[in-house]
Amino acid sequence: MFTKYGKCRIERGKKKVEFWGVKNDNPLPNVNKQYKIGRNEDNDIKIKRPEISGHHCTITIISQHVIVLEDNQSTNGTFVNGVRIKRSLITLQDEVMLAKLKVKFDKIFEKQGPKQAPAKLAENQAQSINYSVEFEQLKTVYETYRSAKVAAMGSGSLKQKGIQAALSFIPFVGSALGILASSTVNPQEKLFALSEEFKINYVCPKCKRFLGDLPWQNLANQKKCVACKAEWVKEV
Ligand SMILES: [Zn+2]
Repeated sequence: MFTKYGKCRIERGKKKVEFWGVKNDNPLPNVNKQYKIGRNEDNDIKIKRPEISGHHCTITIISQHVIVLEDNQSTNGTFVNGVRIKRSLITLQDEVMLAKLKVKFDKIFEKQGPKQAPAKLAENQAQSINYSVEFEQLKTVYETYRSAKVAAMGSGSLKQKGIQAALSFIPFVGSALGILASSTVNPQEKLFALSEEFKINYVCPKCKRFLGDLPWQNLANQKKCVACKAEWVKEV
């Protein structure tokens, strides 16, 4: 579950707003959870600045790394990468501005994307570390992605599509289930969200390089990461 917002911090000098305190303790994102942002008291996130409208905009959680941002006919506008929007799917890379306030959304999510590179201390030992367990999980990530894309466009139960809810402890599977269950996004937007999550999750367990759309079996045949040489499949 996403826990309640703690507070939002405004750095007046730099005109930057950060949202704090939302943590995802559940592998299944709290899909469709909405947060109202604006100047009035009844908002989930209050920004007391004159250029912010009473009910400026709304965000809706779609998955761990994708949210829908909707402007509520604000006076001074909501902008994504410099373009004024009415409604837009955004990722953590997008630059969002409410009027002239820059807003950072990365703290809304517990960071589950590419993790920090291993500490320097571990670098010497890294050669001998085996990544076969993590690599094996990527098989589920790949198969779930393929099935979820089909499910996003059509009907039929998840079970029929071969998506196993029991595996939702794997972050990507949790995200995919959440995206497919979302009622606020259309099929094209679901595909966008799925592909964003896939790019973050289908990565080399060591160097976090995105592995492209290559089927898992092709990667398994390579046995090693061509970039960092991490051993994906244990030699027997
Ligand atoms: Zn690698």
